[in-house]
Amino acid sequence: MPTRWRIRCAAAALATTLASCFPSLSGPASAPRVADILALGENLVQSYVTWVAPIAGPLPAPPIVSVRNTPNLAYFDLRSNVIVVPYWPTLTDSQQAFFLSLTPSAEEAALLFGELFNWFLVAHEMTHWLQRALDLEADPYTRERIANECAVAFFMESEAAEERLVELDRMLAYALDALADPVPPGADPAAYFNLHYYALAQDPAKYGYFQFRFITDAVARRKSLRLVDLLFGQS
Ligand SMILES: [Zn+2]
Repeated sequence: MPTRWRIRCAAAALATTLASCFPSLSGPASAPRVADILALGENLVQSYVTWVAPIAGPLPAPPIVSVRNTPNLAYFDLRSNVIVVPYWPTLTDSQQAFFLSLTPSAEEAALLFGELFNWFLVAHEMTHWLQRALDLEADPYTRERIANECAVAFFMESEAAEERLVELDRMLAYALDALADPVPPGADPAAYFNLHYYALAQDPAKYGYFQFRFITDAVARRKSLRLVDLLFGQS
């Protein structure tokens, strides 16, 4: 079974080909289709490129999107120029259990997962692509905070998706209530995150706490976030 998760799905593949990457797919009728997640991701990539072009100037080719499950769930791979996003119905039991523990129902666990990983984080990963394209150096805490702030600004300005952001914020606030703040009392969150970045990234509860907090903080300031300030102003 685990080797199946390593099968790389070509982002340009047709839905039938993609389905073969997830042979155990047999979720409920309401489960999202891989082809729909791929199409959503590709649309968001194009929309993001259009959004940043007037400010960022000439940019390299945008990433392609791949829907497949890995331990890292969602990430931008610089070498292959691919944004990888995961698929809820074929997550491992332990991966699903984590999100089930953060939500009031199985339906909301699947909803939160889809909204976070198949929608919001596409823009977050596009910001990492942009940060590399523009050579914007930053420590991990700043890089992650800005990735979430740019994603919120993108959905506000380019997608007119304020209601959807607010609904995601509601689910993340509920999830945060179930997670312990990993920062020791008296420690500076940014310094702690930067010092323990690689260890935190291996711990879904601790890393999730930081990312969820970044997103809810960004949504709270959604009306004042501007792309040019986020990219070229110093925090
Ligand atoms: Zn990130």
